[in-house]
Amino acid sequence: MVILATFWMSASASDVFYLLWFDTEDFIEPAADDAAMRLALELEKLGVRATFKIVGEKARMLEQRGRTDVIRALARHDIGYHAENHSIPPTPAVYLKPLGLLEGAEEFERREGQGVADIRRIFGVTPSCYGQPGSSWGPQSNLALRRMGIPVYMDEGSHIGLHDQPFWYGGILYCFRLNRNVVRAELDDERQALQARTQFDEALRRLRQAGGGVIQTYYHPTEFVTTEFWDAVNFSRGRFTAPSDYRRPKLRTKESMEKAYRLFFDFIRYVKASGVRFATGRDLPQLMEDPNQPVDVPAARKRFVEAIDIQGRNSAADVLLALLGFPPTYVDGPTIRVESTVRSTSIPRELFLRGKQDAISYIERHRRLPSHVWFGSERLSLADFAATLAGDDGGPAVSVRRGKLAFERHVNSDPEGAFQWIIHPEGFAAPELLELARLQAWTLKPAKLK
Ligand SMILES: [Zn+2]
Repeated sequence: MVILATFWMSASASDVFYLLWFDTEDFIEPAADDAAMRLALELEKLGVRATFKIVGEKARMLEQRGRTDVIRALARHDIGYHAENHSIPPTPAVYLKPLGLLEGAEEFERREGQGVADIRRIFGVTPSCYGQPGSSWGPQSNLALRRMGIPVYMDEGSHIGLHDQPFWYGGILYCFRLNRNVVRAELDDERQALQARTQFDEALRRLRQAGGGVIQTYYHPTEFVTTEFWDAVNFSRGRFTAPSDYRRPKLRTKESMEKAYRLFFDFIRYVKASGVRFATGRDLPQLMEDPNQPVDVPAARKRFVEAIDIQGRNSAADVLLALLGFPPTYVDGPTIRVESTVRSTSIPRELFLRGKQDAISYIERHRRLPSHVWFGSERLSLADFAATLAGDDGGPAVSVRRGKLAFERHVNSDPEGAFQWIIHPEGFAAPELLELARLQAWTLKPAKLK
């Protein structure tokens, strides 16, 4: 058990924060254990705290191999979570694909919960954050992470994003799809490694001008000691390999390892000299404003009739909740998409108020938006209900409006490209997960630094 001192960080207007994280996942090659320890110890000497996102099986292997030295070195940094089994099939997107929001969340918790418990036991902390193996993402993980006490999603992927900066989604603080604000120094070539400095300077200047922001850099400790990925040689295209048949990845030469460390630490020293503020997954929630911000109802109402979208710091769900009279709070998006059956152009007021009251009751009961709202035996889709509610002028009948879901544009529309990963089965595509992602995007909004 290691007790880490946490320190309060508060941001000023043009602060740029820098996240350095390592996906600590290779449970096959023992040299990767030493790489993780060396990175942790040398960063500590530089006064830099990183986040090590650890795979459950990796944590257990460190324990089995008696590497308390590695565990202790990592625990002085921040500890995150990087899935129970990483690449052992089925990976998260594969098993989440046929499941809806609620069943998927239960399945994620069942399959990934053991690693969280093992990390608590081995490292003495609840992981500060989670990030998926490869591109194996699914929106059901958000509910499960909340139940597991993990408030931050820290990774890079293309499934969903907002202006290349952190955002709130599914009740979780996401540091994801930062695109041009992700900077990595190449580990094999001096000249290419230097390009990362130029890219870092550009990101820093751009974000300072914008009033602040977040830049992130990620590596895998195993990259510093191997020339091929440990999982690609054992689990490519979803193949199962029994532990007794594991093949070790090819190692770098001693010279090539030293070069990789040198190029990496040169880059980190450069970043440090810029005056950027290093932060970990555990620091992130404290750096951000409260996600539950009040809604300017009259202005929001007008814009909602035009398009159902993020409005400033409010998600579409925030706006809808405010129109229904809720105080600022979080609820999930709908679980399915249901079409409207109402054909008339207006709904009598009394019937409309019954439907509205029913929607409020549903949200209070489930802490989730309904997929549709009933008016007698006809229904409005959630989008049409939201637009109709926003356009209600108080007359004896309420005009029916069709809602335009503008926030869905922030979700990737390429169901194969979004899930491309050598470990996924050939041609794997998950349009179901992207559809669920769009439904949950009712909750999407920017995360603003304090
Ligand atoms: Zn990984």
